[in-house]
Amino acid sequence: MLVSLQKALNQRAQDGLLRQRRLLDSPQAEHIVADAQPYLSFCSNDYLGLANHPKLVAAMQQAAGDSGVGSGASGLVTGHHRYHDELEKQLAKFVNLPAALLFSTGYMANIGVLGALVGRGDAIFADKLNHACLNDGGYYSLAEFKRFAHNDVQALEKLLKASTAKHKIIAVDAVFSMDGDIAPIPEYLALCEQYDAYLYIDDAHGFGVLGKHGAGTLGHFNLKSPRIIMMATLGKAAGVAGAFVAGEQVVIDYLIQTAKSYVYSTPAPPALSATLSASVKLIESGDDLRAHLYDLIALLKAELKLNKWQLMPSTTSVQPLIIGDNFKAVAVSKYLQAVGILVPAIRPPTVPVNTARLRISLSAAHSKEDVLRLISALQEAEKELT
Ligand SMILES: *Cc1c(COP(=O)(O)O)cnc(C)c1O
Repeated sequence: MLVSLQKALNQRAQDGLLRQRRLLDSPQAEHIVADAQPYLSFCSNDYLGLANHPKLVAAMQQAAGDSGVGSGASGLVTGHHRYHDELEKQLAKFVNLPAALLFSTGYMANIGVLGALVGRGDAIFADKLNHACLNDGGYYSLAEFKRFAHNDVQALEKLLKASTAKHKIIAVDAVFSMDGDIAPIPEYLALCEQYDAYLYIDDAHGFGVLGKHGAGTLGHFNLKSPRIIMMATLGKAAGVAGAFVAGEQVVIDYLIQTAKSYVYSTPAPPALSATLSASVKLIESGDDLRAHLYDLIALLKAELKLNKWQLMPSTTSVQPLIIGDNFKAVAVSKYLQAVGILVPAIRPPTVPVNTARLRISLSAAHSKEDVLRLISALQEAEKELT
């Protein structure tokens, strides 16, 4: 086996697909130290700049002092601490749904929820550009797994019409992680009502950023329905770690009994939940942060003047610049790195073939000067590299 592993790695390197980790030696922020070099970073999903917020650092220190550092047992045994419980109630209220349940990561949430809610004889309808963990959740559930073209409401309707499945769930990213565009959630909800389906939305990139007070994509569209179940991660705009699922009380009660990645897993430390409670407060009162973030998005879109490379039509903090070729995308990323700016090159299989891109991620922690510096470096890079 070891020989075939090495061969597969060599092949990846040849195809320009070998990924390498950088060693971070600073807190996650807009200015970081990676591999012992200082950089201006457009890499993180810390969209509001909360990952190193002094109030949250203090909250975690204090909570560790009074609740310790470990959960010690699964939530159904003795691991469900008052801090977890308070955060669940706070999150449900914030996203305007009846109840919520914490998971250790978004990946575990998606696998646990799809695995628990549907199975043989049921069907999941999934956007082709969904995040990898929704696909994994789909395979794990053993439900029929039907994929439709990106954001294609008509293609989805055809599949729903033809389906004889007992239970149907439409499972989509609300904001697509590598494209930054927003799914047509109101249209999907209308289809749910028409075809007796449920809607599971993964709001990893909308929570904290979109909607009134940052409550996410449901808030953005002002939607409420017992057919909706949402998931959001707490390691992105919320700046900490973890995830939650929210929906009807009966859905949450059922997940507590049956979602294996909840039942058979130790919850994140209670101190993380206490930190997240402080983070959700910062998100709720963070309209200024979001206004600044949206100013930066508008600045990038208005001022970036390129001939060949193109920004995708995203209006969110994920601003992908399509380069196309894998090696070229890496060359652009390296060019920027040489001038002290980090922007990741995203290649297949994370994105479709021939759409290798730079994933520019903007944060409220960036200044206008940071964005202007990125713009002029990209313009220079295009002159040099095409
Ligand atoms: C990051 C991400 C996840 C996984 O969340 P983690 O908490 O990092 O495991 C799930 N879905 C989407 C769309 C994501 O971008």
